[in-house]
Amino acid sequence: MRTRLVLFDIDGTLIRTGGAGVKAFAQTAEHLFGCPGGTERLRFHGRTDLSLIREFFRLHALPDSPVEVERFLTAYLHFLDEQLGRNRGEICPGVDSLIRALRQIPDPPKIGLLTGNVRLGAHLKLRAHGLADEFEFGAFGDDHENRNELARLALAKARQKWPGSGQGSEVLVVGDTPADIECARAIEAHCLAVATGGSALAELLEHSPTLAVETLEDLAVEQLLDPGVKADRITDWESLYQAGDTRWDKGEAAPGLIDFLARHTGVQGQTVLVPGCGRGHDARAWARAGAEVVACDLSPRAIEQAQSYPVEGGSIVFETRDFLSKSTQSRQFDWVFEHTLFCAIAPSQRAEYVSAIKDVLGPGGRFLAIHYLQPQDLNGPPFGVTVKELRRWFESDFELVDHWLPRSFPGRVGRERMFLWRRAR
Ligand SMILES: [Mg+2]
Repeated sequence: MRTRLVLFDIDGTLIRTGGAGVKAFAQTAEHLFGCPGGTERLRFHGRTDLSLIREFFRLHALPDSPVEVERFLTAYLHFLDEQLGRNRGEICPGVDSLIRALRQIPDPPKIGLLTGNVRLGAHLKLRAHGLADEFEFGAFGDDHENRNELARLALAKARQKWPGSGQGSEVLVVGDTPADIECARAIEAHCLAVATGGSALAELLEHSPTLAVETLEDLAVEQLLDPGVKADRITDWESLYQAGDTRWDKGEAAPGLIDFLARHTGVQGQTVLVPGCGRGHDARAWARAGAEVVACDLSPRAIEQAQSYPVEGGSIVFETRDFLSKSTQSRQFDWVFEHTLFCAIAPSQRAEYVSAIKDVLGPGGRFLAIHYLQPQDLNGPPFGVTVKELRRWFESDFELVDHWLPRSFPGRVGRERMFLWRRAR
């Protein structure tokens, strides 16, 4: 079902304030209520402002009344404004491009806020990062102290504003903590969990969100519009091969690979895996250099066509299989070469991709890749990637031997970068 409404959490999801909110809470506790360090025991992640204030009152046996809450909030907002001016903070990675991409969709989903911040606090935080005008409505921490109730309220507000705006399953909650996942579940909405805030990806996954990503950069807009869809089925590669709609296939091996093999003559007799091989042009270039090649692709039609070309030099075994599926990896290779796979899979599958590459390369094994770089285009494939992101993905298990600008097909000149990694021992 298509997403009609996207509800964003603020802290750790859209922006990181460098702790401005936590510091403003502490200042209020100290200067207004005479409790220095009085908020140190509070756990802030995923909480609503109101629930934090009430917990603070309880911990210090202070009277809890609407007047006292109001007094707290007035001082808090003053300190928050001051802290936001002092702390630089940042927009979380991928937020700008995601919002831009959402706006470009024909009949785009409505975008709102579902946040534990009180309305004015939310405004101050978003204004500090130029995001204050991006959201059409919201449910805020002064509407209710329970986040699940806030989710119900956000949904009710949306339905009132746009009658027929949807069932829970047409709603996507985007947040950075288990509390965000839980409140999505409370309204039977989908949840996209992002690990840019209070929780690591592994912790978020334990709470079974619909989707979970390290950063919002690791996301395709199609997934946001249909979060239930299997990411690798965003593109039906088999249908494209059957229809002959294979514009990415230039009918020959990548120029960057040809040049590399001309320079590196030592691959004779070595084993090479070429995942996402398509019609096998790159695999045949490795075979011509004398390598023993296994090449695989998801599409049976692509493999059938790959097998119809003559092979010179070494050998090639073509296989129809999903490189990302753990159950199909059965051996290790000296080399993995890739050209059009990393950019073709959904960015949220990149963790699986890195894990699959690790599985098929023993210590010292080499991973040679031609990556499609900027512009980052969430409406891929191809999905771009930056050198910084590539380093983040591979650096812990691979040593970067070299990277360079390769010779490219016309139309891709300057947009590709070639990387040679060695699997760490
Ligand atoms: Mg948050």
